[in-house]
Amino acid sequence: MPTRVQVALDTPLPRLFDYRLPDGIRMPDAGTLIEVPFGRTRQVGVALGAPTDSTIETTKLRDVLRVLDDRPPVSAGILRLAQFCADYYHYPLGAILLATLPPRLRNASPFVADTPWLVVTAAGRLAEPAPRAKAQRALLAALLATPQHRETLRAQKQARHAAALVAAGWAVWERLPPAMPAAPDTAPAPAATPEQQIALDALLPALDRFGVHLVHGVTGSGKTELYLRLIAAVFEAGRQALVLVPEIALTPQLEQHFRTRFPGRRIVALHSGLGETRRAENWLAAPDCDLLLGTRLSVFAPLPRLGLVVVDEEHDSSFKQQDGLRYSARDVAIARGKQTNAPVVLGSATPSLESYAQARAGRYRLVELKQRAVRHARLPEIELVDLRHVPLDNGLSRPALAALQATFARGEQSLVFLNRRGYAPALYCPSCAWVAPCPRCSARLVLHRHTRRLHCHHCGYETPVPHECPDCGNPDLKPLGQGTQRLEETLAAFLPAARIRRIDRDTMRPRAWAELGESMRAREIDLLVGTQMLAKGHDFPDMTLALILDTDGALYSPDFRATERLFAQLMQVAGRAGRADKPGRVLIQTAFPDHPLFRHLQRHDYAAYAKLLLAERRQLDLPPYSRQVLLRAEAPAMDAALAFLHRAVAVAPALPGVAVFTPAPANMARVANMERAQVLVQSASRQALQAFVRDWRPQLDTIRPRVARWSVDIDPLMF
Ligand code: ADP
Ligand code: ZN
Ligand code: ZN
Repeated sequence: MPTRVQVALDTPLPRLFDYRLPDGIRMPDAGTLIEVPFGRTRQVGVALGAPTDSTIETTKLRDVLRVLDDRPPVSAGILRLAQFCADYYHYPLGAILLATLPPRLRNASPFVADTPWLVVTAAGRLAEPAPRAKAQRALLAALLATPQHRETLRAQKQARHAAALVAAGWAVWERLPPAMPAAPDTAPAPAATPEQQIALDALLPALDRFGVHLVHGVTGSGKTELYLRLIAAVFEAGRQALVLVPEIALTPQLEQHFRTRFPGRRIVALHSGLGETRRAENWLAAPDCDLLLGTRLSVFAPLPRLGLVVVDEEHDSSFKQQDGLRYSARDVAIARGKQTNAPVVLGSATPSLESYAQARAGRYRLVELKQRAVRHARLPEIELVDLRHVPLDNGLSRPALAALQATFARGEQSLVFLNRRGYAPALYCPSCAWVAPCPRCSARLVLHRHTRRLHCHHCGYETPVPHECPDCGNPDLKPLGQGTQRLEETLAAFLPAARIRRIDRDTMRPRAWAELGESMRAREIDLLVGTQMLAKGHDFPDMTLALILDTDGALYSPDFRATERLFAQLMQVAGRAGRADKPGRVLIQTAFPDHPLFRHLQRHDYAAYAKLLLAERRQLDLPPYSRQVLLRAEAPAMDAALAFLHRAVAVAPALPGVAVFTPAPANMARVANMERAQVLVQSASRQALQAFVRDWRPQLDTIRPRVARWSVDIDPLMF
């Protein structure tokens, strides 16, 4: 009889822990959640079976406290996926396993999932309620047709009758309604376009096995429609589909779309915008669902019959987690597809260069949709306003204002993008040139008008607007530059009759997106002003003008991915204009109209621009032609952060083909009173780099003195 068990715990140490199994607790299956004492606290951990080698005497081990049998064990598939992540990202297995669970299931207090669906039982199908019990008879008849949700029953004052049916054994409360095959007339799928048909002919026969398929389709080409058909085929085969999206804000919209198309299917959403209880419930429901729709963490959800993973907007950087386990959900999705022999479909109008290069090399299948699905919908004209020759009035040029006015006069809608929240990006003293700095970051404070406060968008620091310049005493401080709030004000003064809505992180919660869509379609808005978050995946049919202000910072940024990202954003924005039968127009204000990015953008030619960028990357040995790892260190003083990194470089293994660069301060050197530095390691070979980090990682733990924080980022996206 084994008396000890190996446990994965959420600790920074890359190791497992042994515990004793007291009498009466049998060896739990691998993946079982258990509670154990740890230091002076208790922790939830994942049991991983009997240890293979253990040097500590059993009597010295502490006892397992209890088995959490109110929740299912972590499945073998997820254990395997977590192990892959532990190896690839060089992160502790226990920390990964616990992070994959919804927060509510990471604590030991018993969890009882809600069962909101009233479903008729076999006995209920044969039952004959007394003729006097009219309400019960009616409810039972309703249940025979379709399960009822508790909320609906409550609204109809049926709760008492529901309870009576349950007491009689004629109905039960369940977590999910039973799946019903969709009635043929409830799925009004449009006939596939010729391009979609070619894509389907290629993809449908490949659904029975692993493979990565990159769907490169211009905005509006019907990628979503393509996913829907693939998903339908997966359902037919009795399997599950996982759809990953970058933004919480996009899930309700997409969820609704899927529900209308697949009315009988069990569709579950998973994202951090849900309350803790809902998240836990949905996670527990995942194994029985047909379709799971969620943000990056859903890639770890239990789906025993997984038959397809779709990663929509695969280029989006929010698939990469920027702290803790710095994983890319897109890459983990591919690993999962490989482990479970399920196909992975990546979709985007502007694929990441990493994925595009794989497709061009033939490792991913490339599927292209070059035309918009709706007949007559054309891609918009993209015009540049050359700021070297055209003056600005409060950030807006004359051609831009004229276009706004004309669009408004025609009764159509416009979109104005500015990637800066707040009123003005800086507060400035005209007499001595002082600019309000964040005392904790190497950043300027942003002026927010309605609160009369200065905010740091990096660390959250806030302070009232000073009455005078702290350097020279000048009381006449001025806002410098434009933020979305100030832009809204400027536009309101220019077009007083227009109904303007500002959309940015200051005004939006996930729920508000659905309402925004409705207001737009109901034509209650003439002018939308907002940050790039507006660009993602929203479909506003009457929007015919998109105005883009101030993108120039990204053209000459030190981040080598900045132009790739800007191109993707601008293509996305351009995709917002003129989606239906009205032609669209995009106006971009720039002082660099000769930049090659714009030339390709104007031709809507992603492929040509990607080729150009890839050639540059190859010449400079940058990803995707090399692999990178970034070691970051943070300390109150820059010297300490750099000293740590220099020691890290000194203990680095010497491996041929792996280049270790010189430690340097980060682009944003100070955030929240911490100085940040980093050192880049690069290799043409993923295997060589992995071998390097395997040797290096344990050395880093031994470096003294330590720093406040350090982390290893595999395939870093932000520098
Ligand atoms: P994407 O995801 O590529 O941006 P969508 O799938 O959202 O494109 O499709 C864009 C528009 O085209 C939507 O209004 C959609 O209903 C419509 N559409 C897609 N496929 C078809 C089709 N085969 N026939 C008619 N309309 C279609
Ligand atoms: Zn001053
Ligand atoms: Zn700050």
